[in-house]
Order: sequence, then structure tokens, then C-alpha cells
Amino acid sequence: MKIIMLGAPGAGKGTQAKQIAAKFSIPHISTGDIFRANIKENTELGKKAKEYMDQGMLVPDSLTLELIMDRFANADCANGYVLDGFPRTNPQAEALTKALADKGEKIDFAINVEVPDESIVNRMSGRRACLTCGATYHIKYNAPAKENICDTCGEELVLRDDDKPETVLKRLSVYHEQTQPLIDYYKNEGVLREVDGTQDMNKVFDDILAILQ
Ligand code: ADP
Ligand code: ADP
Ligand code: ZN
Repeated sequence: MKIIMLGAPGAGKGTQAKQIAAKFSIPHISTGDIFRANIKENTELGKKAKEYMDQGMLVPDSLTLELIMDRFANADCANGYVLDGFPRTNPQAEALTKALADKGEKIDFAINVEVPDESIVNRMSGRRACLTCGATYHIKYNAPAKENICDTCGEELVLRDDDKPETVLKRLSVYHEQTQPLIDYYKNEGVLREVDGTQDMNKVFDDILAILQ
């Protein structure tokens, strides 16, 4: 099964994608996580990506596509995947459709997690991230067992640089301009499904399961 998660930054794509991946035994592929891992390792890709990410801008399509096509070549993608944060622009969506079509494949579902902008800034300021394993928490809605420590790997949690309110507003405007049009793109492909992302995260997951099963 090949699934795309759509939605604003902070809508809950990553939270849901991790659960979908576990449930269906497919990899969770987050381009943001891959960029952050590269920044942490101080790779050439990481250095380039950071300049854009810190400003709340998108990393250029050429860099992003190179990285994701590389990731698709990995053996664990044979039975599908859940994409979180990719595609984010029209050219990325077109490139994905073409790469799949070349192999006679297509996306099965694009799930749009709907959350209004007003809720986003509040959510993001409470988000805490583990840069080692990619786990995500919320100080109020999904707190780790031990304050500021990752449940999974024991690392210290951080407030991402780009989750500061000023940067979140920039990311939201970039989202509306460049990513939101993909909702229509996947509607036209006949694979768009919508869920109400303002609900409790377990209820959101139940709604997604009802779509996928
Ligand atoms: P969120 O989960 O809050 O939406 P992500 O972790 O997906 O954030 O992305 C963080 C940043 O990484 C983005 O603001 C952007 O700079 C960069 N990024 C991630 N995925 C892409 C992509 N597909 N295309 C361009 N830039 C991306
Ligand atoms: P995205 O990947 O779309 O940027 P995340 O999954 O990282 O979003 O979620 C953003 C923040 O909101 C995280 O701190 C997460 O724990 C929290 N969160 C996710 N889903 C919900 C929900 N349904 N209700 C409240 N908080 C949520
Ligand atoms: Zn961790």
C-alpha cells in the first residue's frame, strides 16, 4: 500500500504516519526527518537543507527529489510506504506520479489531515522532537513519561528551531501557497480522502483505519 499524508505543518501527519506504518508493516518516510538527520550529521545535504528549513522555506525540488528517489530504491519499499511531508510541491507530485507510472504503479490513498491555521501555532509550540529516533511528543497532548526525555531512546527532546511562532507562520503561508494545491491534484487522481485532524489523535487514527481497511 502506498499512502501520502497531506496537511499543514503540525496537522498530525507524522503522528498518524508512524501508526499507519506500524499497523501495515510499511516504512514511514519523512523527508523532514531525513533532512534533520543530515543536519545532525553535518552532511553536505544537511548544510544546504538547513539554510532553507531555518527560514521556514521549502528545500529546492531538485535536492528533495534526489533524496527521495534514493530512498525508494531501498528494499524495504517493496510493499509500499507511507509518505509524510512529500510531495510538497506540484513538480514533486508530478515527479512521483511519473516515477511510479514508469513501474506500472500508483498511489493508493492521499489522506488530508485537516486542521485550521488557528490551532497550528498552539500545537507547534508544544511539540517536542527527538532528533535521534524521530519520535514526536506534545507537552500537553502526548507527553513523554519522563519530562523532556524520549520514551523510545532516552535522548533529550528539543523544540525544533523551525517550530518558533514566527517561523511557523512563514511555514503556514508556504503551505497554503505551494502544498495545498496538491489536495486538488490528488482529488483529480481519485485517491484523496479527508479526516478531521482536530479530534483526539486516537480518533483520527480510527478514521484513517476505516479508510484504509
Ligand atoms: P512538519 O512535519 O512540521 O510539516 P517537516 O518535518 O515535514 O515539518 O518539514 C520540515 C522542513 O523540512 C520544511 O519546512 C522544509 O523546509 C523541509 N522539507 C521537508 N520535506 C520537504 C519537501 N518534500 N520539499 C521541500 N522541503 C521539505
Ligand atoms: P506534522 O507531522 O503534520 O507536522 P505532528 O504529527 O508532528 O505533525 O504533530 C504536531 C504536534 O501536535 C505534535 O506535538 C503532536 O504530538 C501533536 N498532535 C498530533 N496530533 C494531535 C491531535 N490529534 N491532537 C492534539 N495534538 C496532536
Ligand atoms: Zn528518541
